Amino acid sequence: MNTACGKRRAVFLDRDGVLNEDLGYVGQPERFRIYPFTGEALGLLVRKGFLLFIVTNQSGIERGYFTLEDTHRLHALLAEAVRPHGAEFEEIFIAPYKEDTPNDVRKPSPKFVLDAAKRHGIDLAISYVMGDRTTDLEMGRRAGCRTVLLRTGAGGETEKASGVRFDFVFDDLLEAARMLV
Ligand SMILES: [Mg+2]
Repeated sequence: MNTACGKRRAVFLDRDGVLNEDLGYVGQPERFRIYPFTGEALGLLVRKGFLLFIVTNQSGIERGYFTLEDTHRLHALLAEAVRPHGAEFEEIFIAPYKEDTPNDVRKPSPKFVLDAAKRHGIDLAISYVMGDRTTDLEMGRRAGCRTVLLRTGAGGETEKASGVRFDFVFDDLLEAARMLV
């Protein structure tokens, strides 16, 4: 997938509104609706030589709406859904905090991305951050990645917001996976 002499590259994916419908505080399997194109898109990215990571803010955990264990269960379902397409996640990073709780990992903090880059030897300048909100794009910019706005989830609204900055915009993850090299 990544040659020994080549630089490793990755896609850092937001979860809700990118891989699955953003229904707000998604913690239970019955509200975890994976988009029909997610497996195909991730398989394509893997074949293009990208390592896959998820970076997700889940303040519902600190709020007590669901637990970290519930979230791991959803991610097991997700892994199962994308495996037939040849896709797997290297790591899934979860920030369980509310916006006003002091912490250094919640997006737009780039900490998870920087940690992953160090641990997996990833060149962030040739890597992508994909998301539907400005916090995703800001994290990507702060980490030194190329930023991709997707119009799924809140992406349509984000695109219209003033002052929003990104390198690429696509209708959904599958279009991004097909277009990006
Ligand atoms: Mg999102």
